[in-house]
Amino acid sequence: MKPVKYIKNYIGGALVPPDSGDYLDNVSPFNGEVYSHIPDSDASDVKKAVEAAERAFPEWSTCGAEKRFRILTRLADIIEQNLEDFAHAESLDSGKPITMSRSVDIPRAHSNIRFFATAIMHFASESHHMEGDAINFTLRQPIGVIGCISPWNLPLYLFTWKIAPALAAGNCVVAKPSEITPMTAFLLAKACDEAGVPPGVLNIIHGLGPKAGQAIVEHPKIKAISFTGGTTTGREIARIAAPMFKKLSLELGGKNPNIIFADCDFDKMIFDTLRSSFSNNGQICLCGSRIFVERPIYEKFKEEFVKRTRFLKIGDPFLPITDLGAISSKSHMEKVFSYIELAKVEGGEILCGGNIIEQEGKLEGGFYLSPTVIEGLPHDARTNREEIFGPVVTIMPFDTEEEVISYANSVVYGLSATIWTKDVTRANRVAEKLEAGVVWVNCWLKRDLRTPFGGMKSSGVGREGGLEALRFFTEPKNVCIKY
Ligand code: NDP
Repeated sequence: MKPVKYIKNYIGGALVPPDSGDYLDNVSPFNGEVYSHIPDSDASDVKKAVEAAERAFPEWSTCGAEKRFRILTRLADIIEQNLEDFAHAESLDSGKPITMSRSVDIPRAHSNIRFFATAIMHFASESHHMEGDAINFTLRQPIGVIGCISPWNLPLYLFTWKIAPALAAGNCVVAKPSEITPMTAFLLAKACDEAGVPPGVLNIIHGLGPKAGQAIVEHPKIKAISFTGGTTTGREIARIAAPMFKKLSLELGGKNPNIIFADCDFDKMIFDTLRSSFSNNGQICLCGSRIFVERPIYEKFKEEFVKRTRFLKIGDPFLPITDLGAISSKSHMEKVFSYIELAKVEGGEILCGGNIIEQEGKLEGGFYLSPTVIEGLPHDARTNREEIFGPVVTIMPFDTEEEVISYANSVVYGLSATIWTKDVTRANRVAEKLEAGVVWVNCWLKRDLRTPFGGMKSSGVGREGGLEALRFFTEPKNVCIKY
């Protein structure tokens, strides 16, 4: 795929430049070079997008679920047919290995769209019978214009995770991808045209969060916001949107515990723990960054885990042997590195990694960090409380179930947790007590799109996924008919 020089906004079915004429640089983390330019959109572009969405809403919201199903299914097919182009764009933009873009990001994106396109065909609502006197039924109607804002770590995957249910339910959307990874959203706009998505149904605005993103949140005609990103940004969005009584779904940060009991299947656990620590450079909100290991197997775990971490191949995202590509941006790499420095100040010992890798040749100037394992920190050190969102994990021994549950729950986050044990009763008992929206037992990142997804505490408000998403993107209205 030839890199696109100037990305455009997608408003009312047309690819258009930003009103201001200003563009931002799009840097590839692969080599740190600017390879395209992104609209530096503002409130004026958002206003046009909202107007286009409002014009499209009456027809799209009433055309029937089957029509929406057909169009969205075509869109999913087009992404699937162009998987290679999408995967290449995703890796160039985000630095992730092409093997991951091909096998996870892009396939999940088209399956998100297909899943919600079919789900809307089966979506039903409740009725409540009042003993021969009256009947209530719940009308679930599309809300109107929805704002969807997504992050850079799984760009198209998380973008479609919001857009697909919103559109399937009959809403029109104004969406903003992260300014760090805009390319696959731009390709999606082109695919919308080919799929026959009516003009204005989906509008994509590129630009900076505090400018274009905030304009979406502030716009009075946008009635609901679905946001995935950091907890600090989520708080800011809630501060603006709550007084306007917008419906809000916030999927935020995490600091997920990985709890390993001595009776686990060691080989399977070590294989998956390596994945849950370093997949996508640890830049998945569900990665387990705090690893608690029951003391009898702590030393064995440490030796094997560090050995395998040292074997991971870091480098060219476009080589099939690469395990870890580039970190998404220079500023993020510096933030992650600052946490490695903090860990040392707090008394942690770096067992492997811990450094920025200066690459040569075509990767020169790119953003590469070695996967890092740290031990010797108490569970309440800052390194163990704050989200790092990079290839950095800490390992800690524990002695009792009660102790490890209290460690796991001691942070402000509550997104996901992983438990490794062969004792089903214990797995159940611990899963019940963990403060996390998603708990995996003897596996990690096994995802069924029908399940509720989201976090507790500072990891978010509301749930997405399956029927939860369709409920979020519709307004329930009770109609009571007296006989
Ligand atoms: P940010 O919160 O920085 O950004 C997320 C999105 O919000 C981006 O599109 C960003 O735009 C935009 N944004 C930033 N500021 C504002 C604002 N004031 N108003 C409106 N929009 C704004 O998160 P990151 O992109 O850095 O993503 C990483 C974070 O996302 C991590 O904390 C991670 O845990 C979390 N995450 C949570 C998931 C979950 O399901 N719970 C899943 C994946 C990630 P721009 O990038 O252009 O600034």
